[in-house]
Amino acid sequence: MLETPVQEGFESFKIAPALLRATRELGYKLPTPIQKMALPPALEGKDVLGTAQTGSGKTAAFLLPILSHLLTRPRGTTRALILAPTRELAAQIEQSAKDLMKFTPLRVASIFGGVGMQPQEKAFRSGVDVLVATPGRLLDHFNHSYARLSDLEILVLDEADRMLDMGFLPDIRRVMRHLPTKRQTLFFSATMPDSIEKLSSELLQNPVRVGVERKAAPASGVNQTVYPVPEDLKAELLLALLAEGNVKDVIVFTRTKHRANRVAEKLVKAGISAERIHGNRSQSARTEALAGFKSGKYQVLVATDIAARGIDIDSLGHVVNFDVPNVPDDYIHRVGRTARAGQSGEAITFCSPGEEPDLKAIEKAVGRKIPRDVVNNFDYRAKKSEKLEVPIGVRVAEIQARKAEDRARAKSKAQASGTSASSTPAQGQSGRGGQGSGRSSSSQPSKSPRYDQGGAQPSSSSARGGGRGRSSR
Ligand code: AMP
Repeated sequence: MLETPVQEGFESFKIAPALLRATRELGYKLPTPIQKMALPPALEGKDVLGTAQTGSGKTAAFLLPILSHLLTRPRGTTRALILAPTRELAAQIEQSAKDLMKFTPLRVASIFGGVGMQPQEKAFRSGVDVLVATPGRLLDHFNHSYARLSDLEILVLDEADRMLDMGFLPDIRRVMRHLPTKRQTLFFSATMPDSIEKLSSELLQNPVRVGVERKAAPASGVNQTVYPVPEDLKAELLLALLAEGNVKDVIVFTRTKHRANRVAEKLVKAGISAERIHGNRSQSARTEALAGFKSGKYQVLVATDIAARGIDIDSLGHVVNFDVPNVPDDYIHRVGRTARAGQSGEAITFCSPGEEPDLKAIEKAVGRKIPRDVVNNFDYRAKKSEKLEVPIGVRVAEIQARKAEDRARAKSKAQASGTSASSTPAQGQSGRGGQGSGRSSSSQPSKSPRYDQGGAQPSSSSARGGGRGRSSR
């Protein structure tokens, strides 16, 4: 995947030396294809419309130009904003930015829901160089006078298709009203449906298009297999697969949060270390699950699609689609969890007879039939196990009970502090779709350990201007 005809490294681009040093430290030897395509126009200050999937290296493709530019500008005000659909992705981008800005004085902070506004307010007030934000919480801040982004020079929309899928279009339009129109915009999306083309035409000016048009295929290193199985035997099949011993660490995707819970429960009951991440879990639980999975504490991470967006785990060997995704793009995204940045990986999809039509649509999108396989010695005719789905009535009762508990807790808290219960937002609830509770944002203290000279000195001469957007360098 990283193979390119001309094997030129990052040094061939006009990237600040301090950032080159960080790429070396991160072990990036050659730019990925999307980086090769996006870096030159983005470094020149042009708008970029990129088709890039998760795992393609798109984050560095927009961060390196942003940070290079910021190193030429006076500091003390926020000049770059990155919009992302989920907290996980925002946190991931923030971490990538920190890694890349390690040898610079630049600072980044993230803005997402579910955590206190105050540290985020501080980030605004201190004029942190780069903000990574989910749209809903950003709009909450815009209600306050401290949240002004009038000096913004670069805007990034990451995973724009997912933002639209999650219903963020009105929020994105509202955010735009708070941003200067004269700016550079970098727009990345895994797919380019008409709705995305339309949005991009509203936000970008004469963009340079990069990426492979509508490339509906997972990374080439992914070995894909389908395991046909009756619906009610999927959990047993997963256990049998894990018992074979070839699947060490694995993310298991389920269709619903509820199924994620039940699958994880089944695994734990069978003595397998497993955790879940999905939108109903508190951010601290999600963070712990992810950290535990990364450290090897949990062998299996059970996840729903949205929660899994933006998770970046090095060398993940296996992905299991416990349920066939309803849409091919979700399949491609899920499978993109493995074989990241040129590694090899294995994607296994459990397919019940009822899911065959969805599988056919996926095979059509990826342009080939995915080979079928079986787990040896698994009794495909075994007695069906209990259903994973709990009847809707029982689920509603559970939710109502939980909400009543939340209300009671909020009320007693409010009484204790002498404020109105109704003004206390329930913990872990999302203000806007998909970005409920969040881990504490970190506005990174200015580390500035070593500032690489030579080409990256701040200079006030490079004033914004020269037509629309930032000046070319
Ligand atoms: P992304 O698609 O931005 O989420 O990146 C996927 C993974 O690839 C991340 O772990 C990056 O750190 C890694 N990565 C990005 N660029 C490169 C590169 N040029 N060489 C090797 N790994 C990279």
